[in-house]
Amino acid sequence: MAEPIKHVSYEAGQGCSVPECARLAEFEVYLYDYYPSQDMEFFEQDYTCPFLCSDHMEENEREAIGERKPRGSVDYLFSNKSHAQGYTKYAPVTDAYPLLYSIGSAAVGAKLVRAVAAVNDELVRHLACHPELLYELNPRRFEELVAELLKAQGFEPTLTPRSRDGGRDILAARSDALGNLLYLVECKRYAPTNKVGVELVRAIHGVTQAERATKGVIVTTSSFTKGAIAFASPLQYAIGLHDFEALKSWLSDFQH
Ligand SMILES: [Zn+2]
Repeated sequence: MAEPIKHVSYEAGQGCSVPECARLAEFEVYLYDYYPSQDMEFFEQDYTCPFLCSDHMEENEREAIGERKPRGSVDYLFSNKSHAQGYTKYAPVTDAYPLLYSIGSAAVGAKLVRAVAAVNDELVRHLACHPELLYELNPRRFEELVAELLKAQGFEPTLTPRSRDGGRDILAARSDALGNLLYLVECKRYAPTNKVGVELVRAIHGVTQAERATKGVIVTTSSFTKGAIAFASPLQYAIGLHDFEALKSWLSDFQH
């Protein structure tokens, strides 16, 4: 079986992939190759070094040893660490991700980077106007965004550590006159074609019961299969399903 293609999502404030480098990514790095016999091009993100600042991009090119040609073999300082055949190409992130790039550079200033991970108001407002950018957030960032949206709706969200993810990414608590409520929230940043199926809905329902929480909730950038909806509909007080349309409506409160 073929290995799944690894890919590192570009996020607002994305840093250069060279360890210790504190500059923002200015180029996305690709591995390029061409198979003449099949007349086929290979052009995929170089997951061993997905992003470079301009200084490191230039250094990577300057110090490269080998002939840049199809089926060639080039040794680079930073890119193509798996020594795949072909050679490295670069695409400016300002072309590929203009909005996220501008948000990142504005939010981050000259230095620092990944640490600014948290979703800020500016990003939320941009997403409100451009909800299609939700698909460019990496899954953890999407969880942070959902937590932020829940906070805006009066919840006290806590992101659970990645390692002990037992079918809930966020614990969202709320107290009102009738007592304390605890929602378990699972986030799925899926492509529109990848619907959330009944298995995941069953799983969050199971965890919710096991943990004696108020309600289990799934929030997705996609939608739900018929089976998922059929399973959840008699359990409307125990399970909440929120799809891309729901997210857009939550985000609409943040539009400029
Ligand atoms: Zn760099």
